[in-house]
Amino acid sequence: MDLLDQAADIIIKGKFNIALTGAGISVESGIPDFRSKGGLWTRYDPEEYATIEAFRRYPERVWEMIKEMDELLEKAEPNKAHIGLAELERMGLLHGIITQNVDNLHQKAGSKNVIEYHGTSRTLSCIWCGKRYKKEEKKGEYPPKCECGKILKPDIVFFGEPIPADAMSRSFEMAARADTLLVIGTSAVVAPANTIPSIAKRNGAKVIEINKERTWLTDSITDVFLQGSAGEIVDELVKRIKNKIRAE
Ligand code: NAD
Ligand code: ZN
Repeated sequence: MDLLDQAADIIIKGKFNIALTGAGISVESGIPDFRSKGGLWTRYDPEEYATIEAFRRYPERVWEMIKEMDELLEKAEPNKAHIGLAELERMGLLHGIITQNVDNLHQKAGSKNVIEYHGTSRTLSCIWCGKRYKKEEKKGEYPPKCECGKILKPDIVFFGEPIPADAMSRSFEMAARADTLLVIGTSAVVAPANTIPSIAKRNGAKVIEINKERTWLTDSITDVFLQGSAGEIVDELVKRIKNKIRAE
């Protein structure tokens, strides 16, 4: 039996299946990830620009990066990987997604139970007075300003900022009770999101990893490694699952 069939069986058998997704799942939607350098991140090093210290010190410059990212995000459409996961949820075979992405593509694809571990770009907050705005309210304003006069920050988690408490606790709960964890398109080097696979594994979950390249998880935690592009692999996986269910 090949690896895709093994993964399909694990998912069909699992009573509580979840996914952890990273930037790699959205690469085929035209949003570059951090590691494979290219486009946006060649010009703006996230380790320099996506830090809360940078935002405090020179928000205008950080907004140049955010603006470019926003333009990419607005054009982006879900790909076969996002669509496949939404379909698995409708089939009752995926019970939640923990995403590190801020691109809203899982929701656009129709997934309902999505935890945005690194926040969202749909709202903006003032780190000085705490007031919150919807992105649309500030459309065309650049950089967008709070009524107190300060520059607003998108509610994405910058390096140096805590994970939203609710996202953190719900993710850990889900990871602890999962029978299956699909890890898709993440290098699993950004903490603390990268502790989720270990938590799931320790509690007995089978780990299926989908990535173009091997990661540190592949030889330590992963049970089934499916190497390739997220869109193609998830699409094929969903097909196999459907065929197996039909044949049962
Ligand atoms: P990462 O850039 O560290 O790793 C991406 C991983 O995806 C790599 O292991 C790479 O081999 C793999 N990959 C690349 N293209 C792929 C494809 N087509 N199919 C399958 N795998 C593919 O990303 P990360 O681990 O998510 O960590 C970076 C942080 O930056 C995260 O918080 C992330 O969400 C954020 N970020 C988000 C976006 C977004 O919202 N779309 C984009 C860039 C970075
Ligand atoms: Zn303010």
